[in-house]
Amino acid sequence: MNKNLLYRSIPKVDVLLENPAIQKMIDCYSRETVMEAIHMEMDKLRKFIANTSDEESVKQQIDLLVPHIACAVSDMHTPNMRMVVNGTGTVLHTNLGRAPVSREHMERVTALVSGYSNLEYNLEEGKRGERYSHFEKLLCKLTGAEAAMAVNNNASSVLLILSSLAKGGEVVVSRGELIEIGGKFRIPDVMEQSGAKLVEVGTTNKTHYDDYESAITEDTKALLKVHTSNYRIVGFTDSVAIDELIPLAKEHDLPVVEDLGSGVLIDLAKYGLTHEPTVQESIAKGADVVCFSGDKLLGGPQAGIIIGRKKYIDRMKRNQLTRALRIDKFTAAMLELVLQEYLSEEKAVKNIPVLRMITEPLEEVKRRARLLARRMRAYKLPAKIEVKPCESQIGGGSLPLERIPSMAVVLRPEKISVTELEERMRRLPVPIIPRTANDTIILDARTLKQSDIKLAADQLKEYEVLEKR
Ligand SMILES: *Cc1c(COP(=O)(O)O)cnc(C)c1O
Repeated sequence: MNKNLLYRSIPKVDVLLENPAIQKMIDCYSRETVMEAIHMEMDKLRKFIANTSDEESVKQQIDLLVPHIACAVSDMHTPNMRMVVNGTGTVLHTNLGRAPVSREHMERVTALVSGYSNLEYNLEEGKRGERYSHFEKLLCKLTGAEAAMAVNNNASSVLLILSSLAKGGEVVVSRGELIEIGGKFRIPDVMEQSGAKLVEVGTTNKTHYDDYESAITEDTKALLKVHTSNYRIVGFTDSVAIDELIPLAKEHDLPVVEDLGSGVLIDLAKYGLTHEPTVQESIAKGADVVCFSGDKLLGGPQAGIIIGRKKYIDRMKRNQLTRALRIDKFTAAMLELVLQEYLSEEKAVKNIPVLRMITEPLEEVKRRARLLARRMRAYKLPAKIEVKPCESQIGGGSLPLERIPSMAVVLRPEKISVTELEERMRRLPVPIIPRTANDTIILDARTLKQSDIKLAADQLKEYEVLEKR
């Protein structure tokens, strides 16, 4: 078996370039891309030959060289970030992009950002304007706050607030609220970055009014409340509500800052969910500065929204850090559109995907689950296909104990394992991300869009995902 002969059987680059399929690729893409793919695939082939002495399999690989080059070229031009079908039932799935935005809002944003806009231009006065101006009044109207702004995300809000109000001084916070919220975002570490010194009071499960009172010194610059949105300490607990802290703060002329995490503007209890403290309540109780995420329960773009007394918000707007944390035009445009929906709660619940999903009646979810099951059965997919009740989660660190009754299509594959099926679903052109439990694949219909039904079933059929290979 002569390896040199095998190496020599690899087509030369000039010969490949004469190939009509390759020429077509050059026309469609570019000569550079195709050359890169050719060299990549030839390297692979050389490595293959180095590791085998089976002439027949080398021949096969050589026959596949042009199709492999085509795949490589097409891969280079396919974005890695793709749409996926969320079958997990977790509405705010941080790994899957948190809050989806509505197509209608996106189309309006697209129109705005694909040309020039008055992002920072005051059209009435013909001079420089503020990028927050598009949604500041709206936020004030909705929440009752005096002023508002927005930064890149809520972690940035905390950083900016503390840097603006408490740099070089102390901030008093309860031990029960010193949280980590995923992605290594820890309140104590952010405080340190801001240049404020953290003064922890109370214990993990109990913090009293007196604890705050005795921690206040000449160096105290603010009292901080953090809504422990991603966990609950249950049982023997006590914390000091914001309205109790206000008189204490007033007495010492200190601002009370509340990090709400998830910013809810509507009363979720109306829809059968646990009441989550709303932004309006926080302001009404007297919080001086309140911050929350744009893409948690608010259902908007990634952002950190900061509202409160004008004198504090003005200090933040002037802080040099703001320039580094500022939102871009996409976010500013999207925030305005999403906040406008809240002018009518009915419209918000209908037009903001996150709210629509968490408030959708079980009957509707069941209808989608049944449609999906029917389609899968019609395709005679080799699996036991059932529609069963399940529970969805809100996720994104919001309402951690909340479970929403939902309906799922439960698949028990007949020819392959659940692990294999889960992996194959993940590798589809439009990946399907399910939940797995008790040796079944669960597709929770609460997070499936109407268009996902056909997309999911058709892909399972077309790519023979459930067949033995
Ligand atoms: C989620 C959360 C944050 C961080 O918000 P991002 O928008 O993800 O940066 C900060 N504080 C609390 C309490 C949170 O729940």
